Amino acid sequence: MFRDNGLNAAGQRVRNRSLILRSLLLRGPSSRQDLAAATGLTAATISRIVDETIRQGLVQVVESRGPSSGAPRLGRPTTLIDLVPDSVFVGSIYIAGEKAQVGVHDARGEVVAAHRVAVAEPEDAESTLVALAGELRAHARRTGVAERMIRVGATVLGGVDEAGFVVVAHPNWHDVPAADILHRELGIPVAIGRMQHGLVTAEAWLGAGVGVRSVAAVDVSDGIGAAISIDGRVISGFDHREGQLGHFVVPGIDRVCRLCGLRGCLQEQVRDSVFARDARSVLGETAQADDDRTAIDRLYDAARGGDTAARDLVTARARHIGYALALITAIVDPELLVVSGPSIVSGWDLLEPVINEERIRRSPLPHERRTSRVTASSFGADAVLIGTASLALRHFYAEPEVPLVGLEPTPANTSAHDEQRSL
Ligand SMILES: [Zn+2]
Repeated sequence: MFRDNGLNAAGQRVRNRSLILRSLLLRGPSSRQDLAAATGLTAATISRIVDETIRQGLVQVVESRGPSSGAPRLGRPTTLIDLVPDSVFVGSIYIAGEKAQVGVHDARGEVVAAHRVAVAEPEDAESTLVALAGELRAHARRTGVAERMIRVGATVLGGVDEAGFVVVAHPNWHDVPAADILHRELGIPVAIGRMQHGLVTAEAWLGAGVGVRSVAAVDVSDGIGAAISIDGRVISGFDHREGQLGHFVVPGIDRVCRLCGLRGCLQEQVRDSVFARDARSVLGETAQADDDRTAIDRLYDAARGGDTAARDLVTARARHIGYALALITAIVDPELLVVSGPSIVSGWDLLEPVINEERIRRSPLPHERRTSRVTASSFGADAVLIGTASLALRHFYAEPEVPLVGLEPTPANTSAHDEQRSL
């Protein structure tokens, strides 16, 4: 994104601001000396940018350590600088067919407000995007941050190209100019990508993968999908089909896939709705609504309590997820594999040993020592929304320009779309 040579003064200034703000984002409260060590910038440059960003409200002095609290050699107070978390906000929009979520995030990416939204016409891309933009705008206003919302991230279950077109997505979206539609509706820059691209971006840029060269994010929720980041760059497939692991036929699965008709697809064993159904069966519970996932946590509790059938079901799922990780290891062998999904996080203590054992047993040279690692998402149950927001945050922190322009207080197109907001 940035070139080392040929930057003009304005470009250099933006780059230096980016280095300092990102350092504060990752390290929290820092002295000017800490910032110099982290960024390699001179004391004079740091002072100038810190003073400038304090005036603009992006950073603040959070603590002054007097000489008495530090080492004796400190002859004057040490001032710590930190981000102002509510200086700017980003929005997130996650679209998964008939289900969607919108979120409001502070300058650190933390969720300030999040809402699930039912999509009325999931196959109608234009009206869905317009309606979700309206939802986000309404929540930004309700939260009182509309004028400080400076970017929006959006993610879909499908493939997105560099120009912000949704090439293909569930259900039946093809070549949808989604970034343009959202930008038209919201008036601020929009970054859009595949849901798993958001997950891996958040981990590599803000989470467990900071400082790690190769990171894979694997999500297990409505299906199973992965994305890979190498040296900060998320891999995109030529036909935008990368990372879709759900329809690999896996030994030991005997079910017929509801989507593709093959026998033994991975997702027919691991996705949440199937796992919840199997859990109810093991627990002897009567059938609930198909999207009732609460049985999963009851199954985990039974497994922790020593119930053999419960433990066997959890182990089977963990083995299948471990197999998926072995597939990724065989092709890319990333240093860090991060697994996300609400039902992954809540059962991680049970799942992790089996997942790790199986991914090693199934991947190349299983008996050789290795240092690659598996961990649960850094962001718990908020992983998808924070991942979505991270696409926008990364955009802002790369070029933290001023003045900041947020959502317009009174958009010209409000009335035309009001009726669609109710979804
Ligand atoms: Zn299938």
